[in-house]
Amino acid sequence: MVDQLIRATAAEGGIRAVGVITTRLTDEARQRHKLSYVSTAALGRTMAAGLLIASSMKRAESRVNIRIRGDGPLGGIMADAGTDGTVRGYVDNPDVELPPNSKGKLDVGGAVGQEGYVYVVRDVGYGYPYSSTVELVSGEIGDDLTNYLVTSEQTPSALVLGVFVDVKGVQAAGGVLVQILPKAATDEALVTLLESRIAKLQGFTPLLQAGKTLPVIFEELLGDLGLEILPETQIVRFHCGCSFDRVLGALKLLGTEELQDMIEKDDGAEATCHFCNEVYKADSKHLAGLIDELQVEARS
Ligand code: ZN
Repeated sequence: MVDQLIRATAAEGGIRAVGVITTRLTDEARQRHKLSYVSTAALGRTMAAGLLIASSMKRAESRVNIRIRGDGPLGGIMADAGTDGTVRGYVDNPDVELPPNSKGKLDVGGAVGQEGYVYVVRDVGYGYPYSSTVELVSGEIGDDLTNYLVTSEQTPSALVLGVFVDVKGVQAAGGVLVQILPKAATDEALVTLLESRIAKLQGFTPLLQAGKTLPVIFEELLGDLGLEILPETQIVRFHCGCSFDRVLGALKLLGTEELQDMIEKDDGAEATCHFCNEVYKADSKHLAGLIDELQVEARS
């Protein structure tokens, strides 16, 4: 199944549901950053959550940044997702590996840590990003971001995330976000019903591994509550906006002296993009070109 995001509503618009399949893009992140099993799961869950949260923002150029910083060996996790279906991200220590947890699953909570923070920045494109911070709950990411949505955005929400990775790579990844909107939030029976159904899901990867598609998962969760699946499917992908030109732009900011130094000492400069691990090499000619530009600009 291609990576995709679909939306649905139920209870006459009182429930909003979004589902995303991120198997391929999570595997791309795994390969780009040479992620271990547990760091693949941690970053994969965070990227899926980013896409799900970004999908509720209205403006086409909106983006969500999720930064998770716990006291575990993984260090920080960063994911940047857009309403346009693009996502990128990285972890500080991609090669951390831990033994399975007591449930026999990848120990994401152990890698992230239980003490720490989740920082979420929503940028709707107006230049005034909205940011908010909550404490980590379990480090398992799904719980932590559910807590963010409930406490910081005050929307009853359930976020189920999953990544299944084996020696051949990522076999299944994605997530589902179900939110009860203000008009239905006072309906306690509805909230309780949804909570019990989501609790029964027991993770997202078993559903994907059982061959269930997003519409089937929605049907099981909300089929008897007036489910309406929106017809359009959005393609989602790993994408980073970095480029050689941007790297040159950043190098130019260093100024003539620093650039001259790089030419003499290193015969060029190398820069690696944090988000996608792409390596850019600028040789002495490129750097000399930047010095020329700076001199022309200084004269004008
Ligand atoms: Zn990049």
